[in-house]
Amino acid sequence: MLNGRNMRKNIVAGNHKMNLNYQEATALVNELKEAKAGGSDTEVFVIPPFPYITGIASQLEGTGIGLGAQNCSLHKSGAYTGEVAADMLKSAGADMVLVGHSERREYFKESNAQLAEKINRALEAGLIPVYCIGESLEERKEERFKAVIETQLVQALFHLPEADMRKVVIAYEPVWAIGTGETASPEQAQEVHAFIRKILADQYGEEPANEISILYGGSVKPGNAKELFAMKDIDGGLIGGASLNAPDFLAICNAF
Ligand code: PEP
Repeated sequence: MLNGRNMRKNIVAGNHKMNLNYQEATALVNELKEAKAGGSDTEVFVIPPFPYITGIASQLEGTGIGLGAQNCSLHKSGAYTGEVAADMLKSAGADMVLVGHSERREYFKESNAQLAEKINRALEAGLIPVYCIGESLEERKEERFKAVIETQLVQALFHLPEADMRKVVIAYEPVWAIGTGETASPEQAQEVHAFIRKILADQYGEEPANEISILYGGSVKPGNAKELFAMKDIDGGLIGGASLNAPDFLAICNAF
């Protein structure tokens, strides 16, 4: 599932956040299954809340649709009441995990150093870490967004050896565009994606940098997905609100 341009995977992942009860979530997944979300060139993931992982894993068996979790513990196992380990998610059927979503950074004060540990746990467990980065509105207005993004990359990822770095997916999600209806223009998003790829190339070389998928997230909808996904360095999307509606999510999956 590589895109012709530069041998990168096209990926669309639907982050359900803390929405939908179990019956609603499984009904949504059934609709995606029946419509065969994503063509052969696109990897599609659904990312439901923790308690649904096992059930949805069985539902998705043999469909080609992947399964993600929204978070994992930075610890391996032990006395951490309420936490969920990366190993547990893998054993329950997850393929990937979001690390550092802006809501985790903002509401749960997750730091880049903690996120580096979560990335390590995810890789040890055999999960694909989807590492989320992005600047706030204030940081964008003050033209500090590149420095913020570089720090997020360096502090949470650059301890990884190249072989592990190649397993990571990056999601650029400007915080001012998440759930706000405000989308970065394709040009604004492309500028940041190209910047991220340059930072990766400076650290790891051109070849690994060209193989790492970089997703855009922030109010992606059926009406704007095509022009975003057409940009050279945008390899798909991390979708929040629009992933809760099967026809909208399917339209986004088919927007390449
Ligand atoms: C998200 O939370 O990752 C996201 C991109 O949300 P939305 O699509 O609703 O902006």
